Amino acid sequence: MSSHKHQVLVIGAGCAGITVAASLRRRAPRLDIALVEPAAHHYYQPAFTLVGAGQYPLEATRRDTRSLIPGGVTLIPAAVTAFRPQANSLDLDNGDSCSYEWLVVATGIGLDLERIEGLREALGANGVCSNYSPAHVEYTWRCLQDLQAGARAVFTQPPLPFKCPGAPQKAAYLSADLLHREGKLASCTVEFYAHGPVIFGVPYFARELGKVAARYNISTNFQHNLVSVDGPAKRATFEIVGGERQGERIEVGFDMLHVSPPQSPPAAVKNSELANAAGWVEVDQNKLRHTRFANIFSLGDVCSTPNSKTAAAVRKQAPVVVRNLLHAMAGRELEPAYDGYASCPLTTAIGKCIMAEFTYGGKVTPTLPLNPARERRLNWWIKKTGLPLFYWHYMLKGYERFLPHNTAFTED
Ligand code: FAD
Repeated sequence: MSSHKHQVLVIGAGCAGITVAASLRRRAPRLDIALVEPAAHHYYQPAFTLVGAGQYPLEATRRDTRSLIPGGVTLIPAAVTAFRPQANSLDLDNGDSCSYEWLVVATGIGLDLERIEGLREALGANGVCSNYSPAHVEYTWRCLQDLQAGARAVFTQPPLPFKCPGAPQKAAYLSADLLHREGKLASCTVEFYAHGPVIFGVPYFARELGKVAARYNISTNFQHNLVSVDGPAKRATFEIVGGERQGERIEVGFDMLHVSPPQSPPAAVKNSELANAAGWVEVDQNKLRHTRFANIFSLGDVCSTPNSKTAAAVRKQAPVVVRNLLHAMAGRELEPAYDGYASCPLTTAIGKCIMAEFTYGGKVTPTLPLNPARERRLNWWIKKTGLPLFYWHYMLKGYERFLPHNTAFTED
């Protein structure tokens, strides 16, 4: 058992942790920075939707974590088990402890498979798949290929918050499009069951997505929460969570069941003083500094900001965390610079995508001077080719110059 000490400790070498460490290193090369991360592999998760539809190889989403650690930054290959913010220290699962002057928490969000009875055992067989896990995303593609004429494909969406709120319906659209291309869609049933009351939280894009679902004849069932799965019997049970039939349970048969599991922060965060009542690291939503501990910042999926949890949000949060951390170190005022920006490239067909970009309160803020409600081939190229290149070679390297999003855009 030993104890480490670092000036800046970043927890989690996912999208947010690596981006922050790399940007900090560029702006302040002498800082002593360490990254704490237990996983040997890092995944570019936004491409999982494409992997599940046979449009992208899983290997291309994966890198060795070590290969991404910025030069001069120390990797501590362990998981945090307990945060002790009053003592500026934390415990690791290898028995070591670690103290810090400044802490950045970027542990992401966990999949709560246990919240759906039978799901853990069912995943990966009998047509039960999920794009949310690298272990099961390739099985989604196999399930899709196995669908015969007359099949029933069911897609679920969990309670918010969960990462990439568009991902469950993206899986449904790409699957329906592939069935259409094979001439099977007319005889198949494609069903979408969502815990929430609407198809998408931003009405401007929800209008377009309603049309996309109708085009494929996808039946949309809102306020339906998946509560159990029986893989061998190929049956899924939903509880109705709103409206006149609230509390009723319905059972649905399937040939393919794509599950987007419920999600929550890792236990070490939930059970710590850093968490708010719901378990998220409690930060100021514009400055990204902890509301009670002035030497702690957080960003990405694990923080409490009410934006859509996406890598696109991390792209705009990371420079704010880095600048504010350096301001705090120098005793300067912090900038309230994060406006809730998130983006969700909604793949509505193979080769087509709506680029949904918005800030707090669902304000539409496109980056390109094009009608953002339109399905475009250009957006598909950005999603499949442009953004992965940008991620690996620019964002994770700590470069910070991005095209600004248009906050003056007015909806028709
Ligand atoms: P992560 O990238 O998940 O990284 C968190 C890291 O913390 C992990 O490496 C983890 O091992 C580590 N960690 C966890 N617990 C501990 C601990 N106790 N101690 C130390 N380390 C720990 N985003 C988009 O912008 N566009 C999209 O189209 C899009 N599509 C998506 C589709 C799917 C199917 C999925 C799953 C995600 C998608 N996302 C998309 C979301 C995006 O991937 C996440 O929002 C982003 O990865 C969040 O970054 P993060 O660093 O907060 O979390």
